[in-house]
Amino acid sequence: MAYNKEIYTKIMREYETLQMEQQKELERRKTEIYRKIPRIEEIDRELYATGLNLTRQILMKTSNPEEIVEQMRQKNIDLNMEKGELLSLHGYPVDYLTIKYKCKKCKDTGYVNNTMCKCFEQKLIEAAYAQSNLAAILDTQNFDSFDFSYYSDTVDPNENISPRKNMESIFQTCFNFVKNFDHSDENLLLYGAPGLGKTFLSSCIAKDLLDKGKSVFYQTAFKIFGLLEDYKFNRSEELTTQQQINKLFDVDLLIIDDLGTEFVNTYTSSAFFNILNSRLMDKRKTIISTNLNMEDLVNLYSNRVVSRLLGHYTPLKFFGEDIRKQKICR
Ligand SMILES: [Zn+2]
Repeated sequence: MAYNKEIYTKIMREYETLQMEQQKELERRKTEIYRKIPRIEEIDRELYATGLNLTRQILMKTSNPEEIVEQMRQKNIDLNMEKGELLSLHGYPVDYLTIKYKCKKCKDTGYVNNTMCKCFEQKLIEAAYAQSNLAAILDTQNFDSFDFSYYSDTVDPNENISPRKNMESIFQTCFNFVKNFDHSDENLLLYGAPGLGKTFLSSCIAKDLLDKGKSVFYQTAFKIFGLLEDYKFNRSEELTTQQQINKLFDVDLLIIDDLGTEFVNTYTSSAFFNILNSRLMDKRKTIISTNLNMEDLVNLYSNRVVSRLLGHYTPLKFFGEDIRKQKICR
């Protein structure tokens, strides 16, 4: 699984902090119990001594080791039983003096036998979700929840195909985009009127890729151009501006939403197309969605640049009735 080093370190530190806190909490409980039930302190000392004694006997290879082990095991059981009984006699749960791990498998270390624990993998995925800017919608917007019934099955005379058939084909292309992600140079351009599921499908793709451990960054064109402006004029002292700009270049998948709604000037548009271009060179994938058609795009930006760049994108045209309006009526 591919993951971001920064995130990895951050999570590793969380595990360490958790272990330290649990250890501290255990010490606190021990002090409390030893004060209230002194016999338990004695038991703990005996248990510790038994362990040491066992190690010594085994090292010295005295008499019959199996017999010793069995004797000690029995003694341990008796001591632990007594401890549990004392605790419940005083109104405490029997496991009051054991650490309650959040993950029993790895005992909150993040690793089981040098292999990353499932709980660690889960944390990495969650962190990647958060970094993608899509965390809030990934639960509801995924391939499983895509609803074709919003799209009419009446053939559109201008397109010679029904919106539903068209969506089925787009859906398949998006699905394949994820499936072939590591082995293709494909980029996607989702275009057409608003409210037809462009952002929805982008987040379907994002979710599947994030779950596979890819890094994804979603941002509107409006925000990206703002970011580039801030960067140029040093308007932002924040490190985050630089970090976000790095993400635009580095993530496995960049999703640019709503291209055409931003304020364009010569600087920002050349910086923007520079990002698209270097992503192409590095074979990093990009999805652009826009409410404009190809002609508008070519008019808005310099013709040459756009047509050359967009030549590397698979265009997917969305048409039909605005889903958002239909949802209000349903
Ligand atoms: Zn675990």
